[in-house]
Amino acid sequence: MVLSEILHAREQRTAKRLAIASKGCAGISLSFNIPGFPKSNDQISQAFNLVVGMLEDFLLAHRILIGKDKISPSTDAAGDFYLCKINESSKNIIDIKNLCEQFEQQHPLQRIIDVDVMDSSGKPISSGKEKKCFLCENPAIFCMRNQSHKIEDINEFIESGINQFLRDKKLEQTKLKLSELATQCLLYELSLSPKPGLVDRFGSGAHQDMDYFTFLNSISSLSGYWSQLVELAFDKNFKEKNTEIAKLRTLGLSMERAMLQATEGVNTQRGAIFLIGMLVYTAAKLINEDKIPNNKNLPALLKDINNDILKDELLHTKEVITHGQEIYKKYGNETGGGIRNEMAKGLPVVFNHALPYLEAALKKKSLLMADTGIQPALIRCLLTIISKNNDSNVLYRTDIDTLQKLQNMAGICLKDEVHFENNYIKIREFCLEKNISPGGSADLLAATIFVYQLKNITF
Ligand SMILES: [Zn+2]
Repeated sequence: MVLSEILHAREQRTAKRLAIASKGCAGISLSFNIPGFPKSNDQISQAFNLVVGMLEDFLLAHRILIGKDKISPSTDAAGDFYLCKINESSKNIIDIKNLCEQFEQQHPLQRIIDVDVMDSSGKPISSGKEKKCFLCENPAIFCMRNQSHKIEDINEFIESGINQFLRDKKLEQTKLKLSELATQCLLYELSLSPKPGLVDRFGSGAHQDMDYFTFLNSISSLSGYWSQLVELAFDKNFKEKNTEIAKLRTLGLSMERAMLQATEGVNTQRGAIFLIGMLVYTAAKLINEDKIPNNKNLPALLKDINNDILKDELLHTKEVITHGQEIYKKYGNETGGGIRNEMAKGLPVVFNHALPYLEAALKKKSLLMADTGIQPALIRCLLTIISKNNDSNVLYRTDIDTLQKLQNMAGICLKDEVHFENNYIKIREFCLEKNISPGGSADLLAATIFVYQLKNITF
């Protein structure tokens, strides 16, 4: 990169500023203060684009309306650059300059950011304050002239600042996105109606102690916790797997307590907390490693984290505590291992059966864009799961014969589209007659929706 190219780029920026002034408008520009070469790279540009968004929001929040014909961020030899004209504001240009300085000072990238304001004649507005050096409290100009710092130290400061900013942003976005998906998948599963034996919008199925609203309370009580799982997944300080599992369990216990408090003691979603919690955690871990969660790395990581859970929690227990443990003792691992066994194998019912079904049915479109209609697709997806899953909720209330009968009925329903409605009514009647509710399968449906939606999001 030769100096003349940078000078040329700067001349072009001046020309753009003057073009705004020629329309009688004031303008605001943003650039990064990067000494040395190169002036930009992928990471710097990524951070720059995020700062542009933050600046635009900041200006709008202060009722400084910028032109629709703003010049979108571009990268040239002088680095990344953004320029917009001020269309409307009740503030005078000095106040606008002061606000832009406030933006710089409050921003995590602080001294790396340069927001310049020019008046309607194209003249830069100065606040009269000197910019401080990156590395010390002296004025920047003083350290530059005296070459007070090694260029490597300055580069190191900028690089680590930008890396930290990008990591923080990624954590923030992952927390928001995954919390949204976790809540969404539980709401979709709950609202899908009618379902066999399960609580839905039309009734309580085979349940006497809970209804639609109990679940709304339960889902709401969990909504604040998903982001804590993401934070845990972004924490790279775990030296030992046991510490990691213990931390996860601690958070899981808090979630269970919150759920029980919200439902006045009814266990609505203990299984869902475990299942969706593990998915949020593993997806966040992959995202933190700059990987896109998919059908391969997600089940592999689930297996890796969970393969000790089964023997740890079920095998070594002497006292029968939960329903799951009781079923495990009675039927053994393969039939009675429930969600823990499924998890330790990397959720094969979800990744090998339910997800491929849903992807084919919805043609990989987002849930709202699906032209086949979300309701029929999700009901058939639930039946796919019921036909494959050894649901411990069903086993606990009845026996292995009833479970197999239910699995067969679901299979028949899926194979015969002509008599689907009739067969589906029969399954619902069967569940009520036997007083069973395939709650484990419902949790796996929520998990399938979570994984399906995960693929449609971009970070
Ligand atoms: Zn200095």
